[in-house]
Amino acid sequence: MSTHGFSILFIAFLLATLVVRCWLLWRHVRHVQGHRGAVPPQFAEKIPLAAHQKAADYTVARSRFGLITLFVNTAVLLGFTLLGGLQWLSVAILNLTGPGMTYQIALLAAFAAISGIIDLPFEYYRKFVLEAKFGFNRMTPALFFSDMLKSAALGVLIGLPLVWVILMLMDKAGDLWWLYAWFVWSGFQLLMLVLYPTVIAPMFNKFTPLSDDSLRSRIENLMQRVGFASKGLFVMDGSKRSAHGNAYFSGFGAAKRIVFFDTLLARLAPQEIEAVLAHELGHFKLKHIVKRIVVMFALSLALLALLGYLKTQVWFYSGLGVDPIPGVPNDAMALLLFMLALPVFTFLFSPLTSISSRKHEFEADAFAARHSNAQDLVSALVKLYEDNASTLTPDPLHSAFYDSHPPATVRINRLLANARTA
Ligand SMILES: [Zn+2]
Repeated sequence: MSTHGFSILFIAFLLATLVVRCWLLWRHVRHVQGHRGAVPPQFAEKIPLAAHQKAADYTVARSRFGLITLFVNTAVLLGFTLLGGLQWLSVAILNLTGPGMTYQIALLAAFAAISGIIDLPFEYYRKFVLEAKFGFNRMTPALFFSDMLKSAALGVLIGLPLVWVILMLMDKAGDLWWLYAWFVWSGFQLLMLVLYPTVIAPMFNKFTPLSDDSLRSRIENLMQRVGFASKGLFVMDGSKRSAHGNAYFSGFGAAKRIVFFDTLLARLAPQEIEAVLAHELGHFKLKHIVKRIVVMFALSLALLALLGYLKTQVWFYSGLGVDPIPGVPNDAMALLLFMLALPVFTFLFSPLTSISSRKHEFEADAFAARHSNAQDLVSALVKLYEDNASTLTPDPLHSAFYDSHPPATVRINRLLANARTA
C-alpha cells in the first residue's frame, strides 16, 4: 500500500465513524426526548413519571457531553497522527535519550502522560458536574485525585515490566515475535483475573464478608441448587464513589468470588438479590465467561499477527504521519500507532459484538427464571433502571452499537413471557 493510500483510508474510516457516532447520538436524543412524556405501558405502574423524566434528562445530558468528547478525541487523534504530534514527540525524546530501550519506554510514558492530562478535565467534569447534577456522585475531589495517583502508580508498576518484555520480544525474537508476545499477553491477562479481585480492587475499595445471615443462607442455597462453589461473598463500599448499584462476579479458580455493591443491597429485597445473582451465576454456568475469554485470546492473537505484519511496512508509519528514523527502533511507535488506529477501523463493526453479548444476556435471564424467579428479577431490574436513571426508551440503533444488554422493554417482555410459561 502507498503512504497516501493508507492516509486516505484512515481519514475515510475516521470520518465515517465520526458521522455515524454523531448520527447515533442525535437519533438517541431525539428518541429519548420523544418518549419523555409518558412511561412505557409495561412500566407505568412501577416507575413514576418524574423518575422516567429524570432518566431522559440524564441520558440527554450524557449524550451531549459524549458529543463534545467525541470531537475532542477525534481532534487529539488527528493531532497525534496526521498533524505530526507523535513525530514531534519522538524526535524530542530521541534528542534527550538517544536511540534504545530508554527512548522507546519514554515515548510510551510521555504519550500516556499527555493523554491522561487531556482526559483529566473531562473526567473531572463528568463526575463533579454531570453525575453530581443528577445526584449520583459520592466522590470527593480528594478521593478523585488519590484514585488517579494510585492508578498511575499501578500503571507504572504493572505496565512498565509488561511493555519492556513485549518491546524486547519485538526487537530480539525474530519474525515470530508476535506469537511469543501473545503467550506473554495471555499469561498476563490470566494473572490479572486472579490479581484484580484479590490485590488491586482492595486498594480502591473495602470488601467485607456478607454479614446478613438470612441473606447468606438464601444465596448459599441458590449456589447449591445450581452447583456453584465460590470462595466468598463480599460487600463492596461502592457508595464511596457513586450511587449507581451493581453486583458482579469476579476471578476464577481459587480467586472466584461474588461481590455486591452496598448500594445494591440497600435497595433490593432478599428475593430480588437472589434473582440478580442467579442471572450472574447463569453467565458462569452457561460458560459465557469462558467463551468470552477464549474469543478475547483468539482476537488478540489475530491482532498481534496483524501488528507483526504492519510493523515492517513503511506506509503504516508514514500513512499515519510518522517518518521512521533510520537506525532507531520503531517498535514502541508501531504499538502506539496500532492502538490509536485500530478503533477507527473497528467501530463500524461493533454491533456484531453486541449481538452475541445480548444472546448471552437472554440466556442468563432464562437461567435465572429457571433457578430463581422471573418476577423477582423483573422487579429487581425495574428498581435498578429507576435508581440508575437508565432510559427505558433508547434508540434501537444506538443501543445496537453501544449497549451490551438488550433494551429494558425487550428484556422484561422476554422475562415475563418466561414467567408465564414456567
Ligand atoms: Zn448479564
